[in-house]
Formats: sequence, C-alpha cells, structure tokens
Amino acid sequence: MFNQYDLDEIRDRARAAFIGMAIGDAMGATVEFMTVPEIAAKYGVFKEIKGGGWLRLKPGQVTDDTEMALCIARAIISNQSWSLEAIAANFASWLKSRPVDCGDTCRKGIRAYMLSGTLEVPANKWDAGNGAAMRMLPVALYSLPDREMLKKYAQEQAHLTHNNPLSDAACICLGELLHLALCGAAKSRLRNHVDGFVARFPSFSYQPYRGLATGYIVDTLQTVFHWFFKGRDFEECLVGTINQGADADTTGAICGMLAGAYYGMDNIPQRWIKKMDRKVITEIEEVTLRLVAASPVGRIM
Ligand code: MN
Ligand code: MN
Repeated sequence: MFNQYDLDEIRDRARAAFIGMAIGDAMGATVEFMTVPEIAAKYGVFKEIKGGGWLRLKPGQVTDDTEMALCIARAIISNQSWSLEAIAANFASWLKSRPVDCGDTCRKGIRAYMLSGTLEVPANKWDAGNGAAMRMLPVALYSLPDREMLKKYAQEQAHLTHNNPLSDAACICLGELLHLALCGAAKSRLRNHVDGFVARFPSFSYQPYRGLATGYIVDTLQTVFHWFFKGRDFEECLVGTINQGADADTTGAICGMLAGAYYGMDNIPQRWIKKMDRKVITEIEEVTLRLVAASPVGRIM
C-alpha cells in the first residue's frame, strides 16, 4: 500500500508537523493574550520568533503545548506501546518540574491523577478548552493511518484532562486532518473533510470567520481552519493565525502542526528553524522518527 518513497515523504511531513507545532508555540507565545489591534500597533505584522510575552520567554523557547505533546511522545516510545498510565505519569512529573505555563483544566486533571490515579476526569460541559487538542500530534503520528486507533487514543489522552464532546470532536477531527496531510492529501480533500465535520458539529463553522482565537476549542479551530485554508504557504498560514492574538501560542501550535504536515520541511522558513531551542528540535527529530517507525504505516515497511 505504501512504497519507500511514500514513507520518506511521510517522515518529512511528520518532522515538519512537529517542528511546525513548536515554531507556532514559540512564536505565538510572544503575543498570547494580546488583541489584534495591540499586535498591529506594536509590531505591524508579527512574524518573527522573539521570545518575551507574558511568560518572559527566551527567543525560541516553547511552552506547555509542545511540552505536553513531548510527554505523550516519550510515553509511547519508552513503552513501545500505548500506555495511558505512562502518559499520565509523564504529565505528573512535568507538572512537578514547574513548567513555564500550564492551563487550569490540564492542571486540574493532572492533579486528580496525582491524588487518586484517575485516568479519566468526569464529563464536564465547561471543559471545552483547547488543551487536549494542542497535544494531538504524537497520537496522529503513532496511529497513522488507522482511523479507529486514532479515535480511541485521541479520546483516551484527551480525557486525562478534558472530557467534553466538543473537545473530543475537535481532537478527532484534527487527528484525521493530520493523517490526511501526512499522507499527502490535497487541500481540497482537507477542506472537504472539514466541511463534513462542520455539518456534524455546526458550532465549528468558520465561514464567515468571526475573528475569535480564544482558548475555547471552537474559537481555536475556527481560527486554524480559516488561516490554514486561506494561507498559500506555511508562513502565511502561521502568521495569519498568530496575528489573531488571544491564545496565539496554542492556535499557532495547532496551525503549525497542520501546515507543517501539509507543506513539509522545505516550506518552513529557515530563519524560524534557526531561532528555535536546539535541544527541543533535537528531541523532536528523534521522537518523530520513532513514532512513525512504531505506527502501522511504519511497521508494514
Ligand atoms: Mn502554551
Ligand atoms: Mn496557550
């Protein structure tokens, strides 16, 4: 079903997705919680990795979005299988390490695991934040191209902190879009997939675009959809997304993973890659190769 050429291409797209996610996180964090006019007044168009922001980051430093994705990736690799317990344990040691940032819903879920070992928070209609979707990339890589596996793992990892139908739907949709993009699908195919998703979950409708980019998963995905389909290359997609401000590191991380998977390494500006934290990029390169190798598509080769 997949020849060698395809697997090389998939590896390139997977690497671009993970690096793209980290770039979106690091770049977006500078303008997190700023409004569109505030960003425009201060930067014109914001399009460089500068650090700073409310977290006072070093240029190229990533935040919880990338760190939690790495927690999942490491858990899969060290177990050589899917272990929700291992993911939860990695989240717990990460939280104990005093991360630069951690969302409230994520913190609550991780604390519940630390206190009572729970691997699924109770269903909650208010927990429709984007914290479960932002860490979906390793799940999409490891399950490639199996949709049932993707769906199961997406919900399991999500429910460690977020147990909400909109969050679940978003995690699965994002994972499916990543699968399609990693396998080289055209943008028209991705748009088609999103149209089907919006038909089933009309609150995610992004046309006309409302311009909201908050941590509410609906606003987050609308922003990513709008700019991913509007942008003509990786840079346009990411710059458009991040200049919407608000939860810009997370919208940036999600748009970065999708646009990275779609456009591949050649299309990610070198000036951004050079600015990134070397240690993080080195680890990303390693875990990406290992996740693809452990996935169904990697194992049949
Ligand atoms: Mn963050
Ligand atoms: Mn954020």
